[in-house]
Amino acid sequence: MTSDQIELMAPAGNFEKLKFAVYYGADGVYFGGKEFNLRDQSTNLDADYIEQAVDFCRANNVKSTFLLNSFLHENDVYSAEKYISSIAHNKFDAIMISDPGMLSLIRKSGMMCRIHLSTQMSTLNHLSARFWKDNGVSRIVLARETTIDEMKRIKDNTDIEIEAFVHGALCISYSGRCLLSRFLSGRDANSGLCSHPCRWKFHLVEEKREGHLLEFIEHSKGTEILSSKDLCLINRIADLINAGVDALKIEGRMKSLYYAANVTRVYKNAVISFLQNSDSPAKIEIRERELDLVSHRPYTEDLFNEFGNMGFTPLPYIKKVLFSGYLTEDSNESTTYVKSFNPIYTGDKLNAILPDSSEIINEDVTVLEILENDRPTDMQRPSQICNIVFDKPLPPKTILRKILK
Ligand code: SF4
Repeated sequence: MTSDQIELMAPAGNFEKLKFAVYYGADGVYFGGKEFNLRDQSTNLDADYIEQAVDFCRANNVKSTFLLNSFLHENDVYSAEKYISSIAHNKFDAIMISDPGMLSLIRKSGMMCRIHLSTQMSTLNHLSARFWKDNGVSRIVLARETTIDEMKRIKDNTDIEIEAFVHGALCISYSGRCLLSRFLSGRDANSGLCSHPCRWKFHLVEEKREGHLLEFIEHSKGTEILSSKDLCLINRIADLINAGVDALKIEGRMKSLYYAANVTRVYKNAVISFLQNSDSPAKIEIRERELDLVSHRPYTEDLFNEFGNMGFTPLPYIKKVLFSGYLTEDSNESTTYVKSFNPIYTGDKLNAILPDSSEIINEDVTVLEILENDRPTDMQRPSQICNIVFDKPLPPKTILRKILK
């Protein structure tokens, strides 16, 4: 098996994140437009950017999957049909759906691209997989609850492609079928509006003791009853590939560009190292360290332990790094432009991650000088593009971060 046969699918919340996921090793990216996908809050892509994104993916030999995976109410049908006709000219490699009604509308529009089925449809067995294949689906993103043994049995009994989540946030409900957000905040998770109430703090109140909040004690270490850990299967890549999984999916369209790029390069390194039989304890340690350096909740791979421990956690997000910015594509050896996401100061010691998707290469660098419109300044504010002089040369597309003490 070669790395061409395993697709690493990265999240692309906007065009900028999409490009960096590609620079850092994605084989495929998934993104939505302004309507009918399950992340209404991520910035998503408007019509012009959708076209640019598809062209960019084609130019870089990366697969593009467009998301139309929300569920349709009766009142949505007409506007979904209109929206599909407005994006039908794009040459997506695939469209991801959940609702079979959406599949009918896509076929009615004449679009002939492949259809991928969202994890929202909770596919866990080969009979469901066969049903979807018979109805025109080429790939199924399995329910996160599917065990590795079940993945293997699905592959042994069907010839459909399967995609499995390897990294990112988990729902405490079954495959994201959840009414909690709609109930508590009026925002429907199944329309892409989840407000993540399962991560809020909950207390128990006895009817006659208003204001007397009792903490839920779920286990010896924590008090929160719903809050889940993050999925991390970096050390299960071999099991997944051996089970016949065709594509590995990283969750997180609402997370940062730094997350999209770094998590992608780490998983790419794991896939290549496994397929080339070149893995080593040193590489494993580097990968684990890098995943610890993206903002995350405590990790778990417990979904595969047959639900012995669902991985609830009382701990908040772990954040050890500040995403400083990146070197723009038009930087060169003599002039280095940096787009900033957090303040950068003269004299800052930053850690640079280099855009080589086959190796994990980081370098420590020092900011010698910041030039704003050719004038020296001590600080670059967030969202600016300045010319920064470092103590060593860095290639375009390098990502800069500050390791927090
Ligand atoms: S509230 Fe939590 S469990 Fe429910 S859909 Fe949102 S993230 Fe998932």
